Amino acid sequence: MSKFWGDIIKKLEPYTPGEQPKDLNLIKLNTNENPFGPGQSVLGEIKRNCEDILRLYPDPESNGLRKALAKFHNLPIESVFVSNGSDESLAFIFQGLLKKNKPILFPDITYSFYPVYCQLYEIQYKKIPLDQNFNINLDDYLIENGGIIFPNPNAPTGIPKSFAEIESLLINNQSLVVIDEAYVDFGTDSVIKLIKNYENLIVTQSFSKGRSLAGMRIGCAYGNPNLIEALNRVKNSFNSYPIDRLAQIAAMSSIADNENFTKNCNKVIEARLYLEQQLKEMKFDVLPSGANFIFTKHKHTSGKYLYDKLRQNKILVRHFNSPERISNYLRITIGTMNQMQKLISVMREILK
Ligand SMILES: *Cc1c(COP(=O)(O)O)cnc(C)c1O
Repeated sequence: MSKFWGDIIKKLEPYTPGEQPKDLNLIKLNTNENPFGPGQSVLGEIKRNCEDILRLYPDPESNGLRKALAKFHNLPIESVFVSNGSDESLAFIFQGLLKKNKPILFPDITYSFYPVYCQLYEIQYKKIPLDQNFNINLDDYLIENGGIIFPNPNAPTGIPKSFAEIESLLINNQSLVVIDEAYVDFGTDSVIKLIKNYENLIVTQSFSKGRSLAGMRIGCAYGNPNLIEALNRVKNSFNSYPIDRLAQIAAMSSIADNENFTKNCNKVIEARLYLEQQLKEMKFDVLPSGANFIFTKHKHTSGKYLYDKLRQNKILVRHFNSPERISNYLRITIGTMNQMQKLISVMREILK
């Protein structure tokens, strides 16, 4: 801290992302990356574009990419916004659409970036507790609010909400509803289809999880053109060229190579089902997941102990010390089938 710091920064508690360890021999199951890399066609396009043209700024509007996404989701291009990771879309949504004179609402256990954006942009918020089964109960959100945001499936629980429940929230709540679909590709229904009917809906998606491009930092937001215009106003007051040339190329070729994307997501779902079943046999409680991770706790062994033991065995998962209610849980990213088998055999040794 220094006397030169601004007042907001002095009080700010920044988000801490999961560790990116130097030791590449670790089995890395802590930040929900895809274990299967981007396809050959995507990598080929990135390499082909490593050229002299990189001296030029990229298209500031990312029109090629936005057009491809608009076509993919059957939306007008004015409904599509792209950003440097979906975290940037979320930041712009908080700043441009959720700063109101009433508190916004989100679950007490959810993506821990939300309260950080609220601190940074001085947005009032109220946390709504998950029910006893860790579900989001949307009836609890039908109170005065400046907006509602939650991930679907929720993180770190992995539990999805149904399409119908979200539609009913959109009908019964008049303020903006933001659905963060970072993990939607692993078997959860997207609500992008509802954008045409509800002017209070904005949906964010990411290329980091399902599309295996976390290293390229690409995200998007979809909504009524009026909402997207607000995001463009924030973007163009902050950074005109948020998506670099290679990222635009990579994202477009990923959209074109839907087959590889779908195949990889299906392999992740298959490995998730295997892991769930094996853990249940070893006396773990496993929350029902629609994501590429599971949230689980052992009936008799503490989360911290298991986390440490796994780490000694070169397997890295995520453990949250707080809140207390989740301190015995581990969040385990779904890896390859081989990695899941290794995890299970190490776990059996630990629990012996
Ligand atoms: C990973 C994640 C994001 C951010 O993804 P990026 O596109 O990599 O910025 C957003 N929301 C949730 C819930 C996530 O887990």
